Amino acid sequence: MTKQAIRRALQAALCSAILAVFSAASDVSYTVSLDAPEQHRVQVQIILPPGTAARELQLPVWNALYQIRDFAQFVNWVRAKDRAGNTLLIRQANDSRWQLEGAADGAIVEYQIYVDSFGPFGAQVNSHHAFLNLAQILMYPVDARDAPLTIRFSHVPGDWRIATPLQFVSGAYSAENYDRLVDSPVEMSAFHEFGFDEAGAQYRVIIDADPTDYESDKIVANLHKIVAAATSWMNDRPFDAYTFFYHFPRGPAGGGMEHAYSTAIDLNALTIRRSLYPLNSVTSHEFFHLWNVKRIRPQTLEPVDYTKENFTRALWFSEGVTSTAEEIIQLRAGLIDEKQFLLRLSEQITELENRPAHLTQSAEESSLDAWLEGFDYYRRPERSISYYNKGELLGFMLDLAIRDASHDKASLRELFQWMNANYARRGRFFDDSNGVREAAEAVSHADLGWFFTKYVAGREEIPWNDFLRYVGLHAEQFSISVPDPGFIASRNFDGPMSVIAVTPGGEAERAGLQVGDIITEVQGKAASEEFNQQLALMNTGETISVKIRSRGPERELRWKVAGREEVSYQIRDLDKVTPEQRARRAAWLKGEAETSSGVSAK
Ligand SMILES: [Zn+2]
Repeated sequence: MTKQAIRRALQAALCSAILAVFSAASDVSYTVSLDAPEQHRVQVQIILPPGTAARELQLPVWNALYQIRDFAQFVNWVRAKDRAGNTLLIRQANDSRWQLEGAADGAIVEYQIYVDSFGPFGAQVNSHHAFLNLAQILMYPVDARDAPLTIRFSHVPGDWRIATPLQFVSGAYSAENYDRLVDSPVEMSAFHEFGFDEAGAQYRVIIDADPTDYESDKIVANLHKIVAAATSWMNDRPFDAYTFFYHFPRGPAGGGMEHAYSTAIDLNALTIRRSLYPLNSVTSHEFFHLWNVKRIRPQTLEPVDYTKENFTRALWFSEGVTSTAEEIIQLRAGLIDEKQFLLRLSEQITELENRPAHLTQSAEESSLDAWLEGFDYYRRPERSISYYNKGELLGFMLDLAIRDASHDKASLRELFQWMNANYARRGRFFDDSNGVREAAEAVSHADLGWFFTKYVAGREEIPWNDFLRYVGLHAEQFSISVPDPGFIASRNFDGPMSVIAVTPGGEAERAGLQVGDIITEVQGKAASEEFNQQLALMNTGETISVKIRSRGPERELRWKVAGREEVSYQIRDLDKVTPEQRARRAAWLKGEAETSSGVSAK
């Protein structure tokens, strides 16, 4: 035998040994090899069981964020072979789909992919850790997306461990189908693990961060309160185990991603050292998503189309009203008080009212346009509103409207419990805003069509005081002088802070700032998610120093901050608060609707 023949024989023997293990099962089997973590490269092997000769493999173009991100840009090469090791023809059908031939007896598809997108929506491999949003790196066989599958990780550095909500059964992690697989993030590193039990469920807390940057006992104590408040508010716990993944990088961070059995959250280390409020907020939000969006799910998001956008009118509810619940949960958990709760409400009103687009873009339109959020121009205040911001406010107002219409017999809690009973637990999806309206009317026994027509589908100004009066409050509007740095910057989720507008003729423009510049530092501090608060704390006449990166090396610009009048809102007591209003406010903030005792299915 020649050297080459020996090698071929060995290869064939090895392949049949591998196939002997897998061919018994009809499962699609993945192996992800961390061959070169420091070079951010992984190699993926997919073993396809016997089936049709011609197959197609698709790499998602989006996942998690409602934005097309074209993960195929990172695929270095793709190849395929049969069980004997003979090369099979695999060719591209378009930029994210591959066609395989001769796969009747099964096939082994291999590819190398570059993996270095940080944050909870991304997949990243480096010498410190691997955090994998699997949809970003795993192709699926188009004809077997619903088939059970297994996944293994190889070449994992010796001191790393693996954490994922996936089940580990006889040597591999398994999932019932591709959708479940990619809804399960994977962290591999020398992470720290904490945990607790609450009402019969197991909670894992995986933290990959410098231990001197956080106090685990405080975080775990808050998590305990959050899960207890949320599960009791929903009167439900549709899982036995749930995992929190946290990263606290010293650099830019900020974001959370929901999953059915876990959440991944990134926050800047300095931010959480200063206060746990941001951590509690984002955790409450992502945890509540396990119901709202993961299980209580709009029809327009199902089935997920990994090849193009799933357009939905429901993000004002799925995201925005999740933010409403985030506040309610924190209040119930004792993590914020009533003053902070009302302060947050007034800040949200101020934010919406100061965006001119609140009169030109509806909550539903903002939901449909989510896919444009990656574009700087789209995020300008005259172009768009945020479905998080308006949706959160619609959640608060809908809560008050349901309480009013039902004479305090029902509230937002009953709406969610009703949707949980009638949609989530029955495996059904709801008809976007119509489905929310159906639930609101079912629990209040009233016609709430006007609310949805005017404020959800429509662009009418929300009459805050018509809603707040029910609990003896009103939103007082006043004009305040605020520092005006002469530009607006914003970021696309955890992307860099970029300048989206510069005031014509202003000081910032004179200093040389331009639309599209990336801001790295403000006043000597890294531009993080607190960037806008940093700006708000400045005084008119003060000198601002900003470090920017654009067209050439990083440079520093300085100019004097101007002043500008802005409309601001504060939630206050009405001049005369009646005992009824006081009682309703107590029910709203401290307890629940008087007679609610669970919700039955319709
Ligand atoms: Zn969310």
